[in-house]
This record gives sequence, structure tokens and C-alpha cells, in this order.
Amino acid sequence: MAVETAAYTEQTDIQRDITEMVRQFVDEQIIPNAEHYDHEDSFPEPIVEQMKELGLFGVTIPEEYGGMGLDLTTYAMIVEELSRGWISISGVVNTHFIGSYLLMKFGTDEQKEHFLPKMATGEIRAAFSLSEPEVGSDVQGIKSSAKQDADGNWELNGQKMWVTNGLGSSVVFVLMKTDPNAEPAYKGMTCFITEKEPWKEVNEGEYAGLTVPPKIKKMGYKGVESTELVYDGYKCPPERVLGGGEEGVGEGFVQMMDALEVGRVNVAARGVGIAQRALELALRYSQERKTFGKPIAQHQAIQFKLADMATKIEAARLVTRKAARLKDAGERSDLEAGMAKLLASETGKECVEECFRIHGGYGYSKEYEIERLYRDAPLLLIGEGTSEIQRMVIGKKLLQRHKI
Ligand SMILES: Cc1cc2nc3c(=O)[nH]c(=O)nc-3n(C[C@H](O)[C@H](O)[C@H](O)COP(=O)(O)OP(=O)(O)OC[C@H]3O[C@@H](n4cnc5c(N)ncnc54)[C@H](O)[C@@H]3O)c2cc1C
Repeated sequence: MAVETAAYTEQTDIQRDITEMVRQFVDEQIIPNAEHYDHEDSFPEPIVEQMKELGLFGVTIPEEYGGMGLDLTTYAMIVEELSRGWISISGVVNTHFIGSYLLMKFGTDEQKEHFLPKMATGEIRAAFSLSEPEVGSDVQGIKSSAKQDADGNWELNGQKMWVTNGLGSSVVFVLMKTDPNAEPAYKGMTCFITEKEPWKEVNEGEYAGLTVPPKIKKMGYKGVESTELVYDGYKCPPERVLGGGEEGVGEGFVQMMDALEVGRVNVAARGVGIAQRALELALRYSQERKTFGKPIAQHQAIQFKLADMATKIEAARLVTRKAARLKDAGERSDLEAGMAKLLASETGKECVEECFRIHGGYGYSKEYEIERLYRDAPLLLIGEGTSEIQRMVIGKKLLQRHKI
């Protein structure tokens, strides 16, 4: 049972209702089962099926395509709740959410009509692929490439790395170089909507040329698979260039960076969620465990830890919601999304470590939930841009906004 720590938050009635519904789902279905799927590193299929029924794959997809038509702010609240249960569950929806954002913002009408209804129900799930074995932060340095044949089709070649949902997805939004001589390099990049068979390592027929090597073994973030993807002569028709065969070519970098802005708000929400769970566990354990004749929560050193955790979580939550609200209002939020991602992911890691310390030796035992959180939290420092990259984004934007 969770220790009630919910802080005052400004929410609309819809946001409150949906957050409460997700919180109940997390308490009943995710938290009691996360340990099992984490230890087995197996995909939490029954939980994902229930998420489909709850409509959680279509939260931000417009109602005309069968989604809920809600905004990024509400989505961030949902992600916080899911991540309070287990960040791998938010990982199952995260790349899917980014894919639907790309379609909604840049897709042609045909692309929206073809993919969004099936994505809204979760019938098909999406992955998002920038990283390669030799490239993560420096996206303009990717080597995978696509060339157009005489018949207009594109042939994709190259190796991608760290693709979350790489095996179970049916569609991958993948960035490729289409003009290796472009100056600057980002103008020669294109995003392709590549379709594949879900859960199939070697694709055949119309999807031949795309293979998925065995999943990468990870320290945490278990259950949701991270894989390489090998494109070797994969054929992609021009209508599967994001934004259309003419307009979309050369736009991939800008499209993907735009999507990363919402992706960063999403990772920030995950940081708040995992930190919140660490605080709940720490509040509970510190009132149960006794040393020197009293609960450790009565020692001031422990209370200070709890106070710092709660304070940082509140700050991280507020900056995350601010970044989401700016984006919903149609304003640039790269600076704020960078700040939110930086603060919330670092807060996630710090709160998890403090909770671990409060658990003493038991924190090191697999019997306690904090052990899983301790392996999960560091991912948030890396995915969607490391803390160093966030500082670079924030610094650059500050100087642009305050140029003398
Ligand atoms: C579990 C997991 C899931 C992932 N899922 C996806 C996914 O679905 N799709 C996808 O495309 N990618 C995914 N990634 C990849 C992730 O986005 C990259 O790992 C991340 O962007 C960092 O890139 P890198 O690992 O190549 O590190 P590098 O870019 O090699 O960086 C190494 C170190 O150098 C620092 N550094 C780099 N450049 C600078 C600089 N200019 N100044 C100062 N420091 C610098 C970095 O901060 C880092 O500390 C995932 C990664 C993990 C671990």
C-alpha cells in the first residue's frame, strides 16, 4: 500500500479523473506484478493488454482517429503515474507516443489515416530510432542511409542501436541520411516510417531487409526490449517518407528534434514518477524500522533526507508541467523541456539513492522494491539526451534569448 504523499496540484476535472484512474491501475496491476516481470525480464503482456483497454495508447491522438484527444500536460501526468509503478511500462508507451506526435504534426493525411486509428487502440505499436552503435548524442553523425531507386522506392541500409520496443513494434520511425553531402549535415536527413512484423526477428516479403538481433541485456529497464535494428536493402515506398515523398525529404532531423522536445517532457515525467515512488517507500520504511530505540524517521538526519526528496520532487514536477503547458500553448519549449528533463532525471536518481540509503542493508536485497528502482533510475540520465546534452541545450538557448 502506498503512503499518501500526493501534493497539491492544479488539475482540471478530466486530469484529476484520469490520473486517479491510472493511479488505481498502477497500485492494483503494475506495482504488485513489476517484480515478477523485472526478474524474468519478460514483456508484461497482460498489463499492456489492460492499458490498451484503458485507451492509454491513444491519449494524445485526436478523437477523429479514435484517441482521447488530450494534451501533453495530461499525458505527462499519466506518465508520472505509470512510472511511479514501473518505468518500463512508460517505456512501452513512450516511443509510441513520439511516433504518434510525429504523424500528427508532420504526417500526410494518408499517413495519419493509415496509422493513427490502429495506434490509438494499441493494435500496432511504434518505435523511434535515431541512435546507432557509434552515434547517440551527435545525431548529425549518423551513418545509416537511404537511396532512391529509379522506380521511386527508397532502399534503406545501416545499423540502428538501442531501439526501445524494437522487436514488438509494427512501425519504426527511423532517421536516415539521404544526402551525405548536405551542408550542414542535418539538411540531408529524412525520417522514414518503416513497417515490420511485430515480434519477428527476420522480416520477409514486403518487409524483407529488416532484421532484429537478440535484445540487449540491460542493468535495469527490464521487460521492455531494447534492440538493434539492421536495415539491409529494406525497401520503403515514397509515401512512407514522413510528410510525403516530396515535402518530407531532408526534413527528418528537424522533425525528430521537435519530437524529442515532447519526448524530454515525457522522460521528465518519468523522473518525477520514480522519485515519487522512492519517497513513498522511504516514508514507509523509515517509520517501520527502529534504531537506537525509535523509528529512524525520528532521527533528524533521516527527516532531512525526506524533506530534500519531497522538495526536489515538487520542483521537478512543476517545471515538467510548465514545459508541457508551454508546448500545449504552441510556444517553443526547448529550454524548459531541457530544464525539466535535466532536473527531473537527476531528482529521480538522487531520490532513489536516498531511499536506498534509508533502507540500509535491505535496500541491497532483491526482496525490496527499491533495488529495482536503483537499477531503473540511471536510464533517465541517458535516454532522450544525457544531462550534459541538456545543459548544452539550456546554455545555448539562454544565450540566444539573452543576446546582447
Ligand atoms: C535503455 C536505453 C533505451 C534507449 N532507447 C532509445 C530509443 O528508443 N531510440 C533511440 O534512438 N535511442 C535510444 N537510446 C539511446 C540514447 O538516446 C543514447 O544512449 C543517448 O542519446 C546517449 O548517446 P550515447 O549512448 O551514444 O552516448 P555518447 O553520445 O557517446 O556520449 C557519451 C558521454 O559523453 C557525453 N558527451 C557527448 N557529447 C558531449 C559534448 N558535446 N559535451 C559534453 N559531453 C558530451 C555524454 O553526455 C555522455 O556522458 C536508448 C538508450 C538506452 C540506454
